[in-house]
Formats: sequence, C-alpha cells, structure tokens
Amino acid sequence: MSGDIARMCGGKIRHPNRRRAAGHLRALAAAGKAVAARLNVYRCPVCLDWHVGHRPR
Ligand SMILES: [Zn+2]
Repeated sequence: MSGDIARMCGGKIRHPNRRRAAGHLRALAAAGKAVAARLNVYRCPVCLDWHVGHRPR
C-alpha cells in the first residue's frame, strides 16, 4: 500500500481538509506559481487527504 501512496502522492503536499487545500491553491495562484483554473482541489483516494493538482482518473 505504501507503494501506491508513493506513486499517487509523491511530491504532492497533503492537506488535512478541503479548506486548507483551497488556501494553498489560492497562495500558489497569488504567487504566480500556478494557474488556478488548471488545478483542482481533490480528495486523494489513496491517502484520504487533500491535494492540489490534477484530478486523478
Ligand atoms: Zn494522496
């Protein structure tokens, strides 16, 4: 199972809830490091925390 987490979550920041993840997304957009429209806040099916990034299939 830890191998799946490494594959799905490697390099991603894990947030404990949607609010925190959304705040991180806004911070990234404000810093010009991300185009908010291209990123999503989603609940990871592997670690059950929240990530900012491209929604997994
Ligand atoms: Zn995850």
